[in-house]
Amino acid sequence: MKVCKFGGTSVASAEQVKKVANIVQSDSERRCVVVSAPGKRHADDIKVTDLLIDLAEAVNAGAEIEDKIQAVVTRYEDNARGLGLDQEISDIIEADLRARCTNAVKVSPEYVLDSLKASGEDNNAKMIAMYFNSIGIEAKYVSPKDGLIVNEPPARTMALPEAYENLSVLKDSKEIIVFPGFFGYTKDGVLRTFDRGGSDITGAILAAAVGADLYENFTDVDCVFSANPKVVNNPAEITEITYREMRELSYAGFSVFHDEALMPVFKLKIPVNIKNTNNPAAPGTRIVAESVEKRRPVTGISADKGFSILYVSKYLMNREIGFGRKLLQILEEENISYEHTPSGLDDISVIVRSYQLDEAKEARILKRVREELHADDVHFRHGFSMIVVVGEGMNNNTGLAARAATAISKTGANIEMINQGSSEVSLSFGVQDQYADAILKSLYEEFFQPVNV
Ligand code: ASP
Repeated sequence: MKVCKFGGTSVASAEQVKKVANIVQSDSERRCVVVSAPGKRHADDIKVTDLLIDLAEAVNAGAEIEDKIQAVVTRYEDNARGLGLDQEISDIIEADLRARCTNAVKVSPEYVLDSLKASGEDNNAKMIAMYFNSIGIEAKYVSPKDGLIVNEPPARTMALPEAYENLSVLKDSKEIIVFPGFFGYTKDGVLRTFDRGGSDITGAILAAAVGADLYENFTDVDCVFSANPKVVNNPAEITEITYREMRELSYAGFSVFHDEALMPVFKLKIPVNIKNTNNPAAPGTRIVAESVEKRRPVTGISADKGFSILYVSKYLMNREIGFGRKLLQILEEENISYEHTPSGLDDISVIVRSYQLDEAKEARILKRVREELHADDVHFRHGFSMIVVVGEGMNNNTGLAARAATAISKTGANIEMINQGSSEVSLSFGVQDQYADAILKSLYEEFFQPVNV
């Protein structure tokens, strides 16, 4: 059987939901359908999730919410009308939203946000199940309450092992399952959402739980491209990519598929197929455990902005037992995760995502490193991009790093950091933001222009 997840744009309007129904009907193996909240119908549109966040913020601020509730309800009403459903479902959705606004405030501001965000997918799943039944597809809405158990705060939301066990019964359902993405419940029944884009994660959990043969992830592009098409003209399409490669690429800016969603399917080696709801006949991109295709050494190149570097130097650092641990502990105590730690004999750089920092945190970290670790020099630098060259074929290919470095040097950029992942499936470069696009183009030319294939 196949588990299919439909992203926001795939369920943004009645017209899109009809495409979803056609896709489900065209293959009897498509038994489980995971849906996002309605996304953007056009470039200037607002995702329902963003409308809901806006509503939640108003609830928390004790501000006027009527217009905000109407903005959300209207989106569902339009879709319901377009799908030929009667007013009842829109009334149910409106009542649900109002109840969430009133009840969640009694718990906590965080819960208001979680509960309202989750309503986007929850109500959409209810409506889509109703529509499926109205056109003769036997379907049933299943709530994550029935088994998708997640961990407790403050850790980031993740499914617990028993979630898989609980949800495995869905494989025997006679009806097609319509399941809302993006959230689960703690053992005590408290709703928690995954990170943004987290419906991909729900789809993967379900695929693993029912032991699917394939996890189909429907979005609005024909495939994953080897580089960002907004920067590189006409980049090569990736027809097949391994989990490891996808992991590296989605880490650094390939937003087609949520990086955490790979975990459940990776463990069971369930292949993933990224497909286009607007062009379901296109083969899409397959994510597999091991690639059988013969390919270039480099599969994709990504570039992601928003990194900062904490630079620390101290003479004889390499002799000092525990220096690295103490440094990372200071970051841990500020609730900061790190990405890379390239080091020399007497210095170390810790690369972190900039959104985790603020002025006060930086000042505290610098003070502690100076006073507790007696560093000779310690400072932050901001405005860095990570460029990641990814390919399973890289580990038995000599000279790749040299080619990449030469391609980067052509742009005039200074390489601030180089890191070759231990798995040798990726090569990362830290550079200043302003060079990122030029570097991506130059690397693409080096590794993908026909002469190098
Ligand atoms: N609707 C949520 C978001 O916009 C989750 C998802 O679509 O995957 O992030």
